[in-house]
Amino acid sequence: MTKKTSIPEWTPPNAGKEFASRVVHGKTNTEASPQNASKPKPNIDIEEIKAGILAGNRTLLSRAITLVESNSRRHFEDARKLVNELLPHAGKSLRIGITGTPGAGKSTFIESLGLWLINQGHKVAVLAIDPSSTISKGSILGDKTRMEALSRHQNSFIRPSPSGGILGGVARKTRESIILCEAAAYDIILIETVGVGQSEITVRSMVDMFVLLQIAGAGDELQGIKKGIMELADLILVNKADGDNLMRAQIAAGELNSVLHYLQNATEGWQTKAQTCSALEGTGIQEAWDMVLSFVDHVKERGILTQRRQQQGLQWFNDMFKEALVQHFFANEANLTRYNRIVNDINQGKLSPSLALSEILLL
Ligand code: GDP
Repeated sequence: MTKKTSIPEWTPPNAGKEFASRVVHGKTNTEASPQNASKPKPNIDIEEIKAGILAGNRTLLSRAITLVESNSRRHFEDARKLVNELLPHAGKSLRIGITGTPGAGKSTFIESLGLWLINQGHKVAVLAIDPSSTISKGSILGDKTRMEALSRHQNSFIRPSPSGGILGGVARKTRESIILCEAAAYDIILIETVGVGQSEITVRSMVDMFVLLQIAGAGDELQGIKKGIMELADLILVNKADGDNLMRAQIAAGELNSVLHYLQNATEGWQTKAQTCSALEGTGIQEAWDMVLSFVDHVKERGILTQRRQQQGLQWFNDMFKEALVQHFFANEANLTRYNRIVNDINQGKLSPSLALSEILLL
């Protein structure tokens, strides 16, 4: 294995320290780990991986996601082919986004809901988008001790957030991972994210339904319950409704319901409601799922689900298109030089950003 490292290909010029990720040549991020350092790199057999995924093989599903997450250009081609071939087998799951501040009980809730769903005969995949891991190698969501009981179950598949990169890149990887999980017959896909801003909007753009997990008594300002986040949600669950906290949780849910009446609905014709649950005790899980099923009826009957997925597909394409244009632009050495000179001129106050735009596009 070569020790030489380089900045990933998608990194923009002049990128700061937020681009913490480094790629070891010829290896995916996972393969580059010290434990695997001595292993020869296996050839990627797309047909074998495809057949394995369709047969529900979790090891091959995992390898396929590693391929999708790789920043190497060669892997990108393989990943694109694989995802495209599996596309006809995808799309049959229910995709649910789950957000909430750290400590709200997301992993406890997902474990509880996931095991409950598996008991009902479902196959559950959990994917995460962790905005912290896009900025540094640290992560709020990614540690392996979370959801242990769920991860041990053969009808579950849990994948932490891809590390490194910009949110847009992570979003592409997660969208492709959804397709792979669906092809492996996971019929419920839970996408978890931390409630800290931009990542909710990203997750909202790839799911059918969005659930916000809250806790009572932490104070709105602490929990960052903002109108914007509430307006993204199709269901709000006030978690930790147990013991001494039960009454407070019920009051909080009541208060949220009265506020929700004045807010814009996330989904046409659907009044978002708040209800309580205890992820720890397993209460309110059935009721939460009943609400999910009513929502699904609502969006299917009115054609909203089909329309939403079409719009999301288009947005996905547009996001990738813009990303590819930028990459294509910087692949040209002369463009890069011109860009650097223009940025320098803007910094020194010699050039206005709008004039700079005309210059860079040679208008
Ligand atoms: P996350 O950061 O949102 O994933 O939150 P965790 O699931 O890690 O939960 C944070 C803490 O809250 C843990 O100590 C959990 O045991 C606790 N917790 C989670 N759900 C409940 C619940 O329903 N009731 C109570 N009492 N504690 C809970």
